[in-house]
Order: sequence, then structure tokens, then C-alpha cells
Amino acid sequence: RAKKDSGSAYRFFEPEMDRIESERRQMAIELRRAVIENEFELHFQPIMSVKTGQLRGFEALIRWSHPTRGMVSPAEFVPVAEEIGLIEQLGAWVMDEACREAAGWPHSLIVAVNVSAQQFGGGKLVSGVERALAESGLHANRLEIEITESVLLNETDDNIEILRQLRGLGVRIALDDFGTGYSSMGYLTKFPFSRIKIDRSFVRNIRENVGSRAIVRAIIGLGSSLGMDITAEGVETSEQLDVLRDENCGELQGYLFSPPIPRQNLGPVIEAYCGDQGETGCVVQADV
Ligand code: C2E
Ligand code: MG
Ligand code: MG
Ligand code: MG
Repeated sequence: RAKKDSGSAYRFFEPEMDRIESERRQMAIELRRAVIENEFELHFQPIMSVKTGQLRGFEALIRWSHPTRGMVSPAEFVPVAEEIGLIEQLGAWVMDEACREAAGWPHSLIVAVNVSAQQFGGGKLVSGVERALAESGLHANRLEIEITESVLLNETDDNIEILRQLRGLGVRIALDDFGTGYSSMGYLTKFPFSRIKIDRSFVRNIRENVGSRAIVRAIIGLGSSLGMDITAEGVETSEQLDVLRDENCGELQGYLFSPPIPRQNLGPVIEAYCGDQGETGCVVQADV
């Protein structure tokens, strides 16, 4: 049967493509319903200082609690939400909720929020961030917006202007998943990022693979000399931590310390780290 934009390769894999297409369509329908039914929640993963073991803050990660499928991974549904134009609405919800949550934390803690490249195209990102800050009362320098290189790939000039406006509000900007995709060190000179997050694919085999370790070292070296903070993603073992410490990596996230935590369970974690310190500094408990 006839199909639009069918290339020869497409036709060749048609049964498989049909299955993927229909799953996508099904997810799109479910997603629209989920937005109306409010089926999303935020989990927060701790960001730790490598050197001092202090809690620096949390990254907000969206979760979809589907009535029959259980928790659906954002890796599955965020791309679909982007494709069908739902990401702006979803992204605004994440921004509002993350800022509101963080406004109740000790002032030493930041919150990091992931923002899709598609949200840059909609023209509402800057005003949405402004509104989230104003309504929550969160100070702008406690909000960090995580983008990926794809933001710098498309319509670069417009997007850089938006990044400048966000920076103008006092918000911090982090470059997420660095080292993957189209990564080049040149991106680091396109904008004065507050932070680089080293993709977990380099962290995973940092002990065995001299190439990964060399890349991590290069990112830390260049980023640090540009005045950027460095976070290693996906740290799962104390051996990885040892190497990162030797390489002078500033901060880490990963299962070694903690998976993302449902927001209702954050209290004890914050209390453990910041309890005695009031709002000045959140000091070491664990042997990270
Ligand atoms: P990301 O921003 O790079 O987030 C890090 C991902 O790594 C998260 O997956 C986190 O749960 C996972 N992770 C953390 N520590 C470890 C570890 O030690 N080992 C391993 N294997 N994984 C670890 P998650 O929550 O499934 O999110 C996947 C991606 O979905 C995120 O990657 C981000 O790109 C996107 N995403 C999540 N929440 C949002 C959101 O609110 N808005 C947008 N636009 N994208 C989001
Ligand atoms: Mg992220
Ligand atoms: Mg990442
Ligand atoms: Mg990622």
C-alpha cells in the first residue's frame, strides 16, 4: 500500500516500521490523555561534590506513572512528546514544579531542569522561566537549565540569543551529555556555560579504557580553564569515583550515591546533609 515519504530502505523494513509507527501513534494518544489526567511526577537525583561530599542540589527528572504500564521512561516518551508538540506544555509543568519544590530547600541547593531543543523554538521559554521563578520565589541563580548540543546545532543564532536572555535572568546553563552526538570541543566556546556534564558513556569504562579517561581528562581540563563546573554522570562504582577524583572532577551524579528520588522522599536526604547546617552548607555524611 502506498505511503508518503517511503524511501527504498523504508519499504524494505516496512513491517517493522509499521509496528514502530503504530506504537508511536498509540503513545501519542496516551500522552495527550496523560497530560489531561495529570499522570506525571518529578523525581530528583542528588548532585554531589566529589571533593567535599557536600550535597549541591538535585536534577529534576520527569516520570510518567501510567495506569497500566507502570513507570514509563522519559527516554521513551519525551521524544514522542517533542514530536507531537506536547513538550512545551510538559516542559512548562516541569519548570513550575521543579522551581516550586526547590524554593522550599535550603538556599545552598540548586535545582537542574532539562529543557528540550524544541522548547527553544516555541518562543515561550524565557517568559515561562521568568514566570516559574516569580511564582515560586526561587532565586534565579539556584536554577540550572540543562540543554544538549542539539540546541546549538539548529538555528544556532536564535538559540544562543535565548540562552543569553536566560543568562540575563541570572539562570545557570549546563551542557548535558557532553561528548556524545555531534560533540566537539568547539561547542564550549559558543556560549559561556556554567557547567558541563560528562556523558555517562565515558564514565562507564573510565577505569579500563584509556581513551575514555583521556576524553574525560580533556573535557575537565578545557571546561575548568573556561571557568565551567564539571559533573560526571552515571557514576556507579567507587572505582569510577577514585579515577574521577584523581582527574579533579568537581561533581558527580549516579547510582553509587543515589538514584533519582520521588519528591515526597527528599526530606530525610536534605535533612541528613543540611540538617545541622541550616541554610549555609550541606556537609558530608556518606563516604562519597
Ligand atoms: P539526562 O538528563 O542525561 O539524565 C540522566 C539520566 O541518567 C536519567 O535517566 C537518570 O535516571 C539516569 N542515571 C542517573 N544515574 C545513573 C547511573 O548511575 N547509571 C545509569 N545507568 N543511569 C543513571 P532518566 O531519568 O530515565 O532520563 C533520561 C533522559 O530523559 C534524561 O537524560 C533527559 O534527557 C530526559 N528527561 C528527563 N526528564 C526530562 C524533563 O523533565 N524534560 C526533558 N526535556 N527531558 C527530560
Ligand atoms: Mg540532564
Ligand atoms: Mg545527561
Ligand atoms: Mg541523557
